[in-house]
Amino acid sequence: MEKIYFDYAATTPTDPEVIKAMQPYFFEHFGNASSPHSIGRESQKALEDARGVVSQFVGANPNDIVFNSGATEGNNHAISGIVYHAMDRGNHIVVCSAEHHSVLVPIEQLQRDGFKVTYLPVDSNGLVDPASVKAAINDQTILIAVMHANNEVGSIQPIKEISVIAKERNIPFLVDACQSVGHLSLDVNELGCDLLTFSAHKFYGPKGVGAIYIREGIKVSSFLLGGDQERDRRASTQNISAIVGMAKAIELCKDELLTEYAREEKMRDRLIEEIPKRIDGVKVNGDLKNRLANNAHFSFENLEGESLLMSLDMQGICASMGSACTSGAMEPSHVLRAMGLDDALAYGSLRITLGRWTTDENIDFLLEQLPQLVGSLRL
Ligand SMILES: *Cc1c(COP(=O)(O)O)cnc(C)c1O
Repeated sequence: MEKIYFDYAATTPTDPEVIKAMQPYFFEHFGNASSPHSIGRESQKALEDARGVVSQFVGANPNDIVFNSGATEGNNHAISGIVYHAMDRGNHIVVCSAEHHSVLVPIEQLQRDGFKVTYLPVDSNGLVDPASVKAAINDQTILIAVMHANNEVGSIQPIKEISVIAKERNIPFLVDACQSVGHLSLDVNELGCDLLTFSAHKFYGPKGVGAIYIREGIKVSSFLLGGDQERDRRASTQNISAIVGMAKAIELCKDELLTEYAREEKMRDRLIEEIPKRIDGVKVNGDLKNRLANNAHFSFENLEGESLLMSLDMQGICASMGSACTSGAMEPSHVLRAMGLDDALAYGSLRITLGRWTTDENIDFLLEQLPQLVGSLRL
């Protein structure tokens, strides 16, 4: 049976072109980028070329990009790195309540260690009101964290408006852009954030590699201590093949950014229009306007989302309830809860995320299968 993949928000296949670009960096060009000889210099050049591609894609200076193992590391790094430097200035953190766990969990730990945390509410569409950020900050605030696009419901936050507020008060602003980099065009100066995190495997690059943008002048302590790689901001020998793969993945995304956005948007809108027409008791979650082109998210009344996922899987359809971390656990999604959904609806949720290899036929098949599957599972 041919599988249909509808879980691009969890991870994407590595594009074969990316794999091809990575290949020479395992045996032919295997050097340590810090080595002073010609084999090391080759790696150093590949590393800096990749940094050029990645930095340009997000509108950053190459020097402000630190390669790392992905957005989890980036978010952990940003949070602990900012706090370490700002402890004498204050102990208050402002964070959106619908963030990814890689932002929330480190902040919860700081809270247990005595930091004060304000969790920004989101509205029923998952959006933060910039006025609530303004109201939350005080003289002790040392960090604001609001993600760009939500990984569960796809809502895109008003980052520019929040940046203005952060800048007025001179508070470092972290934006987790893991779902948006590679999928829509963004620019760190236009967004106005101070820190931006992303992962290559969310845009057809390899897993285990990503980057953090740290605006010049923002003091962030090093996350891994040891050598002076990445201008002393992240020790450890750079993973050149993965970094080259990440840059290649960006080049491929850049080539098709607008056409792919429009293509996915059309398929997404078909799902959002058709599913409530074909099935009773469905709620579409997330903002309909400020939304990722590849995300459609639903809640079904009187339905166990876990059972629906299993039935879909038996038809060869791979989807999700929300974040990879939430499905499988018994707790309903913190994002849906923050949006005010009751637990019963949150348990009946289905996230369909699209990508480069999704076809109209895949959408047809899902639209065909879903009504009868939901019908047979309804409680
Ligand atoms: C996937 C994701 C992460 C974590 O990325 P990793 O590559 O697993 O470290 C963080 N934030 C968001 C919004 C994500 O979608």
